[in-house]
This record gives sequence, C-alpha cells and structure tokens, in this order.
Amino acid sequence: MNHPPIIQNLINNFAALPGIGQKTAERLVFYLLKNESREKIEAFGENLLTLKKEIQTCPVCGNYTNGSGCQLCAEPKRDRTKVCLVAEAQDILYLEKTAIYNGLYHVLNGLLAPVEGITPDKLNVTALGKRLAEGTIKEVIMGFNPTMEGESTIIYLKKLIREKYPQIKITRLSRGLPMGGDLEYADEITLQSAMDNRTEI
Ligand SMILES: [Zn+2]
Repeated sequence: MNHPPIIQNLINNFAALPGIGQKTAERLVFYLLKNESREKIEAFGENLLTLKKEIQTCPVCGNYTNGSGCQLCAEPKRDRTKVCLVAEAQDILYLEKTAIYNGLYHVLNGLLAPVEGITPDKLNVTALGKRLAEGTIKEVIMGFNPTMEGESTIIYLKKLIREKYPQIKITRLSRGLPMGGDLEYADEITLQSAMDNRTEI
C-alpha cells in the first residue's frame, strides 16, 4: 500500500533534508498528523513560506538579514579594523557567544573543496576584496574549523590577500580547537581561547 500522495510528498520533502532519512521523515509526518493542531501546522507552513521571501543576504558581509538591513554591519560599537572570515552564517552565532570578539564578520558561504565542486569562484570572495580595498581593515582573522577544507581555504586566501595587501595582518584561530571538529561543537571556553590566542600567519 502506498501513502496518499500528500503524505508521500511531505515525506519526500523531509527526507531530502540533511540528516533525515526515509524512516525519520515518515515518523515526522505521522507525528504532525496525529499530534499537532491545524493552527500549529499552518504556522509552521507560514514560517517556511516566508523564509526565502523575507530573509536576505547582506551584500557587504554575507550574513542573513530580515530586510531591515544588517544588524552586524550597522552596529556602531564594532571594531571596524578587524574582520573575521567564517565559512557559514551560523558560525557567527558561535563566535558571538564567546563575547570576546568585537570586530566585523564576512561569510564565505563554504570552504574550498574542489572534489565537491567548491572552487574559489563559489566563495564570497569578491565582496571581501571590496571591503579590503576600502583600507579600514587592518586584521583578517581566519575563523574556520581546523579541517582539510579549512586549511586549504586559509592557504588560498592568505596568498590572495598577501599579494594585494601586504600591510594587513592575517591571523587564524589558535590550534586549541579539535582537529576536524566543528565550531558548532566547540564549547565557549575553547572558542574564546581560540580567538584570544589567535596566531599570525
Ligand atoms: Zn552585513
């Protein structure tokens, strides 16, 4: 017996998300059907509908914004001489939690992984070039996970920045972060000390 098409379609939608297999997708759909009120499900659907409609990307730093401008770029008390490069927008939240860094951010939208098709042209590097050309930034911090992709991205960007802006200090998070680990899973103290003890490269 097949599921009715509406149920099957929703199962397929959930199953297409990362980390959710067919079984979990089925469990989620039947959970919603059985346990949630119509109002709650409609609110859930409404959130999904507005996600792509309302949320935009800041043309300067690449962070997600809700249309009323980028909070991070506009914050007057931030140190505008430092920019921390991160792979994904979510990484900003982890670094902000440490409350030790007060500079700006720049979201690259990934890390170099040529095998997976993530080549330099896929990264948000042009916007970074524009920011560096303004001349205010004195330090670029490589705020990546210590993975193979993170290391390749550091090597690539360091060369790129050095060629044009030899006066800009380039630093990286200290090696205290677990190798291959995710910023997401590092505790606040570890992240704080990784930022605090960043080393020049
Ligand atoms: Zn911004």
